[in-house]
Amino acid sequence: MSIEEQVKAWRHHIHKHPEFGFEEEQTSKFVADKLEEFGLEVHRNVGKTGVVGILKCGDSDRSIGLRADMDALKVLELNDFAHASTHKGLMHACGHDGHTAMLLGAAHELARTKDFDGTVYFIFQPGEEHGVGAKAMIEDGLFVRWNIDAVYAMHNLPGVPEGHFVTNPGPIMAAESAFEIEILATGGHAALPHMGTDPIVVGAQIVLGLQNITSRNLSSIHEPAVISVTEFNTNGTTNVIPSSVTLKGDTRCFTDDALHKIEAAMERVAAGICASAGVEYRYKFHNGFLSTINTPSETAVAVRVATKLVGADKVDGAAKPFTISEDFSFMQRQAPSCYILVGNGAEGEKGGTALHKPYYDFNDDILMTGVNFWQELVKDQLPQAS
Ligand SMILES: [Zn+2]
Ligand SMILES: [Zn+2]
Repeated sequence: MSIEEQVKAWRHHIHKHPEFGFEEEQTSKFVADKLEEFGLEVHRNVGKTGVVGILKCGDSDRSIGLRADMDALKVLELNDFAHASTHKGLMHACGHDGHTAMLLGAAHELARTKDFDGTVYFIFQPGEEHGVGAKAMIEDGLFVRWNIDAVYAMHNLPGVPEGHFVTNPGPIMAAESAFEIEILATGGHAALPHMGTDPIVVGAQIVLGLQNITSRNLSSIHEPAVISVTEFNTNGTTNVIPSSVTLKGDTRCFTDDALHKIEAAMERVAAGICASAGVEYRYKFHNGFLSTINTPSETAVAVRVATKLVGADKVDGAAKPFTISEDFSFMQRQAPSCYILVGNGAEGEKGGTALHKPYYDFNDDILMTGVNFWQELVKDQLPQAS
């Protein structure tokens, strides 16, 4: 079987058997067994269900980390092709099946050709979708047990033409945080508001006050951000002023600095408005994903390799960042890095269905683009002495 057919068969097998984050037992075993078969040193259960495969050639102490994600989503697949999910309610709707197959393909090829000098770490992470897998691998010593000079990751992107590459030397994806503000008042009779305190009016002021953070506390050019209040829950009824209001929502931004400013400013707004109304509050802010920020030199490397592979007209090396999020961001705080997107297909064409949709499918025609990118990147960064 050719490598193309092999990688496609692996992708279809993984797609058919999707597993949720931290439950990737079979996928993880499939990956680890294959890596062992190729002759790599394999470490299982790194960060619960994560796998690290190590391939060393020559005597250089240079190294590179290549990362793929393995988890699926709780989406009911509506495709009816032969490789559709057989695990009802679970689906590879984000293309992690393709990412895993491409990195396996690169491991297979590099183990066969051995045309580099240094160490390649093939990192297969669990639980990306909920921002927990990269952290788990880091906490399990990914960057302590192994000396990884730089780390790279690739994700497919529908809406971008098949096999084109997109990245940016700086922020490429947003930080995502969830917040909750609980306002604790006395409530009372709807006809007698002066007899108590009203959390509804306070909540409404907070909703508006939070919008001033993006327009008045953050730079409109350097710190674009979104603060969305998405829930406003009360325990009141038609003729009863409630005693509590809970506001919940989501924020996005692109730098760690903006993230810290938002976290602090939101509490300041809530505290100030609550104090002026004489009510108490509880504030929770949970960062789920940091912003995905590429380092310029590694981005230049990725752009050079992609350009060599597909031509300059198919590489956008200075793309505007996207407001979606990615937990590779946590690995990016450990080593210099680049996250690159590969086009899954233009809108309306094969591969153009958006991520997380029940009709999505990873485009098999870009599998070898990914395999070749990883191989070329390794040869570029760990060159053999000529
Ligand atoms: Zn996803
Ligand atoms: Zn994804």
